[in-house]
Amino acid sequence: TNEEAAARTAAATADTGGPTIFDKIIAKEIPSSIVYEDEKVLAFRDINPQAPVHVLVIPKLRDGLTGLDKAEPRHAEILGQLLYAAKVVAEKEGVADGFRVVINNGAEGCQSVYHLHVHVLGGRQMKWPPG
Ligand code: 5GP
Repeated sequence: TNEEAAARTAAATADTGGPTIFDKIIAKEIPSSIVYEDEKVLAFRDINPQAPVHVLVIPKLRDGLTGLDKAEPRHAEILGQLLYAAKVVAEKEGVADGFRVVINNGAEGCQSVYHLHVHVLGGRQMKWPPG
């Protein structure tokens, strides 16, 4: 059913450190709807959007950042660039006055792709707390 398919998509998985689907998106081997791109960062629409605006902001070079829990001092610059790009994406998408930024981390945090990514969600009223 559609419900089962959605549950599978949302299912958290463990960090194996292996390649992810985002490698192919970065290489443009599989298509994505790109919203913003610069030398270090790529932002593209989520394939399974949870809001009218749902964009993923990722570092082009993973450099060990399977998740935020792997962050080291050397990652401070790219972490800042990702968050800044999230703001640029929110502006480009017309939701700068109301949006949410999410990083799911680890299986309990509902992470499914182990290449660090910032979700930018907007275009509807958000709820608190998130599920
Ligand atoms: P996570 O669950 O790890 O926080 O977020 C991973 C996100 O990547 C999910 O929201 C999922 O819909 C999205 N995603 C997974 N595979 C693809 C894909 O091939 N293309 C795009 N555009 N998004 C994807």
